[in-house]
Amino acid sequence: MSTSQNLTGGCLCGAVRYRLRGEPYDVVHCHCKSCRRVSGAAFVTWFTVRVADLDWRGEKPVLYHSSAAVSRGFCPHCGSTLSYRHESDPEEIDITASSLDHPETLAPAGHIWWEQHLIWGSPAAQQELPVYQRSEA
Ligand SMILES: [Zn+2]
Ligand SMILES: [Zn+2]
Repeated sequence: MSTSQNLTGGCLCGAVRYRLRGEPYDVVHCHCKSCRRVSGAAFVTWFTVRVADLDWRGEKPVLYHSSAAVSRGFCPHCGSTLSYRHESDPEEIDITASSLDHPETLAPAGHIWWEQHLIWGSPAAQQELPVYQRSEA
């Protein structure tokens, strides 16, 4: 885990930026259908931070309520998925790990919503595939 005092991140186009004062925790790969659909990816890696420790910079994410209790934040310009909040945890917010400027500092601790995982989104299935350093050439 990073010991950086000022972890920063943002969306693909840079309109939405954030800075964390606290350390990210609960780093997990989420395989639920909603995360897969909102991102278009096989799974989404999230970390949690206290709302009080997160400062949005520039524009704020636009919120989409994927259910009555859940709001998901994304950039209004480039569409990057950035945040997840559940009404039951008003003090906490989840942020997409890969929106960090240095996501390599995180250490994912596990997989959640495995019961909804995509068969080719599993680590075992991925390990069987050929690997290319860049595009398949
Ligand atoms: Zn953007
Ligand atoms: Zn999910």
